[in-house]
Amino acid sequence: MFEFRNGSLHAESVPLEAVAREFGTPCYVYSRAALAAALAQFQSACGGHDALVCYAMKANSNLAILDLFARTGAGFDIVSGGELARVIAAGGDPGKVIFSGVGKSAAEMRYALKSGILCFNVESAAELTRLAAVAGEMGRRAPVSFRVNPDVDARTHPYISTGLKENKFGVEFGAALELYRAATRMPQIEVVGIDCHIGSSLIEYAPLLEALDKMLGLVDALAAEGIRLRHLDLGGGLGIRYRDESPPDVAAYIRGVFARVGGRKLKLLFEPGRSLVGNAGLLLTRIEYLKPGAARNFAVVDAAMNDLIRPALYEAWHNIVAVRNSGVSGAVYDVVGPVCESADFLGKERELAVSEGDLLAVMSAGAYAMCMSSNYNSRPRAAEVMVDGEKTHLIRERERTESLFALEHLLL
Ligand SMILES: *Cc1c(COP(=O)(O)O)cnc(C)c1O
Repeated sequence: MFEFRNGSLHAESVPLEAVAREFGTPCYVYSRAALAAALAQFQSACGGHDALVCYAMKANSNLAILDLFARTGAGFDIVSGGELARVIAAGGDPGKVIFSGVGKSAAEMRYALKSGILCFNVESAAELTRLAAVAGEMGRRAPVSFRVNPDVDARTHPYISTGLKENKFGVEFGAALELYRAATRMPQIEVVGIDCHIGSSLIEYAPLLEALDKMLGLVDALAAEGIRLRHLDLGGGLGIRYRDESPPDVAAYIRGVFARVGGRKLKLLFEPGRSLVGNAGLLLTRIEYLKPGAARNFAVVDAAMNDLIRPALYEAWHNIVAVRNSGVSGAVYDVVGPVCESADFLGKERELAVSEGDLLAVMSAGAYAMCMSSNYNSRPRAAEVMVDGEKTHLIRERERTESLFALEHLLL
C-alpha cells in the first residue's frame, strides 16, 4: 500500500526517501500487504468452491514474492523450466504447478515430469507427441490439459491479445475434440483438464465468460464421449488501474464463472499475473537533470527503459508522482532515462513540481517491470525491496557492474 503521509510518499509505514537512502536508486519497491491483499481477494472470491489460484509468475518471479504466495496456498503457472526452478527454490509445491507455453523443450518436459507438476497445458499436436515420447522414456504418464483457443476478442492491445485465431497460442477450437480423442488413446498421457488464456490487461471480464461458455461446450461434448475432465483453467488476464481504467471486479467475475459452471464436477483454476502484483510495486528513481527546452522539458532520471520497458513496448501509461509533494504547481516534463534510444521514456507530458535530485515514483510497476528488465547500455539491474509494515527487506541486490561481463571471455 502506497500513500502520502505528511507530504511524503510511503510504502506501508516506510518513507520512500528512507528506502532510497538505504538501498539507492533506481529501486523497485513492493508492499507485502498489497501483494497479500491481492491474492486474498482472489482466494476469498473462490471460497467454498473447488478452485486453485495459480499465480502466473512471469509477471514478477522474485523468490520472496513466490515464497509469500506459496505460503498462502497459491499454485503457480509457469512458462519455462527456469520458472519451475524458481518455484522449487522458493519452497513452492510442484504439485500445484501448471506449465504453459508454446515451445516447451524435451529437457523442460523431463524436469517438470520428474518434479511432479500438476499439469502440462499443451498447445499443439506436435507438443503432445513429444510429451508422450518423453513420458514414455521415463516410464511416466504426463497429466495434460489442452490450451484451446476460443477465438474470442479480448478487446485489448494487439501485442497482449492471445485468444484470436491468428495468435500463435493454443490449439484451434475446431481441432480440440479430435486432439482429446487422440490423447486418451495414448498410454503415456493422462487427460486431466482444459484451459484457455485469451489475453492480458482486460478491462472487462465479459470476454472471459464468453471464452468460458465455449470451453464448457467442449467439456460437455467430451463428457458425452466418456472423456471426463477434472479441471477447467480460465487463464489470467484481468487488468489493473494504471490511470483511470476501472478494472474488472474480481469477485463479480468469479461469481459469474461459478454460476456458469453450475453443477458440473470441475475444479476451477485461475492464472492471474498482473492483477496480483501490478499495483503492489513501484519503481523509485532520482532526477539526475532537468533539461528545459523550447519544444519540451525533460526530466532525466536514473531509471530507464531497461528497468521498465512497458511504455516503449506497448505505449503503456504509468502514473509518475513526486515522492515529496510540495503542493506547488510545476512544469510539464517528459520523464526520460539515460539510455541511448528515443523510445527511452517512462512518461510523457507529466506535470511535476520537482528539482534536480528529487525522487519520483513510477507507479504500478509490480508486474512486467523487473522481470522484463535488461542490461542494455551495460546498466546493472536495479535492487528490489519489499516493505512489510515498518520493516524493509532487500529481496534482490542491485547487480554489480562486474557481474555484467563475468561470463564473457577475452580472445586468447
Ligand atoms: C501471461 C499469462 C498469464 C497471466 O496474464 P496476466 O495478464 O498477467 O494476468 C496467465 N496465463 C498464461 C498462459 C500466460 O501466458
